[in-house]
Amino acid sequence: MPSLGSCMKRHLVATRALKRLLGEKVVKTDTKSLHAASFDGIKLVFLPEAVIFPRNNTDIGKVLKLANVHRVALTVRGRGSSLTGSAAPIKGGWVLDLLKLNKIEIDDEVGLARVGPGANIAQIHSKAEALGWFYPPDPASKEFCTIGGNIACNAGGMRGGKYGVTRDFVLALKGFLPTGEYVEWGTPTRKYSAGFNLRDLWIGSEGMLGVITEATLRLVPKPQANWTLLLAYDNEVSAFKAVRDLFASKLQPSICEFLDRYSVLCAERATGKTVFKGQAGKPVVLLEFAGSQAELDGLNDQVLAWAKKHALAYRVAESKEETEQLWQVRRKCSGAMFELGDAKLNEDIVVPMRQYVPFIKFLDSLRKSSGLSIPTFGHLGDGNLHVNIMYHSAIKAECKSAEKAVKQLMMKVVQLGGAISGEHGIGLAKSPFLRIQHREAQVKAMYAIKRALDPKGILNPGKMFEVFEVWKHKKLVIKLPWDHK
Ligand SMILES: Cc1cc2nc3c(=O)[nH]c(=O)nc-3n(C[C@H](O)[C@H](O)[C@H](O)COP(=O)(O)OP(=O)(O)OC[C@H]3O[C@@H](n4cnc5c(N)ncnc54)[C@H](O)[C@@H]3O)c2cc1C
Repeated sequence: MPSLGSCMKRHLVATRALKRLLGEKVVKTDTKSLHAASFDGIKLVFLPEAVIFPRNNTDIGKVLKLANVHRVALTVRGRGSSLTGSAAPIKGGWVLDLLKLNKIEIDDEVGLARVGPGANIAQIHSKAEALGWFYPPDPASKEFCTIGGNIACNAGGMRGGKYGVTRDFVLALKGFLPTGEYVEWGTPTRKYSAGFNLRDLWIGSEGMLGVITEATLRLVPKPQANWTLLLAYDNEVSAFKAVRDLFASKLQPSICEFLDRYSVLCAERATGKTVFKGQAGKPVVLLEFAGSQAELDGLNDQVLAWAKKHALAYRVAESKEETEQLWQVRRKCSGAMFELGDAKLNEDIVVPMRQYVPFIKFLDSLRKSSGLSIPTFGHLGDGNLHVNIMYHSAIKAECKSAEKAVKQLMMKVVQLGGAISGEHGIGLAKSPFLRIQHREAQVKAMYAIKRALDPKGILNPGKMFEVFEVWKHKKLVIKLPWDHK
């Protein structure tokens, strides 16, 4: 693939041509705009040479064609909440900011949402729910992130175990190939079997195979009611065994969140309150069941019998306020971890349910061998766990330990039949582990697709295939809107 980045003069000429083509209101080169587009959720800064705020599809097609003519790198950006650096313009060039293309149209008759790439997830939820429909994917960043970013990363969330992830709700996509040609993949129908499925190839392609300009999403009827309970366990192994038993009983919660004792302790120290009254410092599981009132009433006895059998203690939320209190526990734990170190390798690995117990034992041994705190929480409904390797960036020995620990973690996850990422994607942060997950032939096949669709290597270069070690780079000290207080 031809090298981009270096040729300053060519880029200057290209940016001037871009401004002439689209105007100064669409193409920004002031310091403030460039800085704002230079980093994402992992806070590593790479300055672009221009930020483009397209007004419509025609602008996007023109930008791509010009980028190809001048061989300028182009990074697509939604809200920039990526936790892998996938939205950071590591090779400079131009950033295409799609946040303002945010239309949301709900087809109430058939249960579809037609959305622009910049549509915000929380807004899709509320517009659908106002009409009795439901869009299940619910990343914790939903108040901020966009559907374009969610599709590009195949985002998940807490409800993945029951409903699935973004991929399971995308019926059709419209957009542009890296070369600037307009394409439509799929139709707004439930069934589609007309040729290669390039819609699914785009989902999870991290802005490297095309620019999404519209998506049609499948909606489901909104559950009438939900029921939340919090359970405390003696230890992590008991919690995992209980959850396996729950799923084996065919009881399917809409949400099944787990916090290990280290995450609970962080939340307790941060809030000054015990997560589960009378069970301080114990691992907890937070469950939600959703459905019709009749379905929930039918489940009640069976779930409570299961809870009594396995848990040290459990508490059913009796009101909306109480449900909200239980959720606050889960939301607090991530930010609270920074008492254990100023730096975090935040991994979103996936482990098959049958391997939960061996995995939690492995984490214990990793804590011992690395000497680091590794609080872990996540979605037990689909095995997607957030393993947080905490360290002090000023202590060299801890940095080395963290680097070693993250590699051991990835090897173990793959050895257990799992995945190095369940929802965040590869971007920069997971690039050193791509070849742990994939055989060389698989990486070659992916690279061949990239080259076929993007022969000049314009779209989001420097990601996934090139190894980038995030722990060796200095992060910007800044508080982003989603950072915890
Ligand atoms: C506090 C916090 C909590 C989070 N929780 C979750 C979670 O629960 N689940 C989860 O899955 N993720 C989570 N994330 C990660 C992040 O929010 C998701 O990856 C999200 O999908 C990114 O959306 P975005 O709009 O911010 O995209 P960006 O960060 O702007 O971009 C992400 C990637 O998508 C590409 N892209 C964006 N728009 C388009 C487009 N229109 N066409 C083609 N490519 C495009 C970009 O090039 C980039 O590669 C969390 C992040 C934070 C900060």
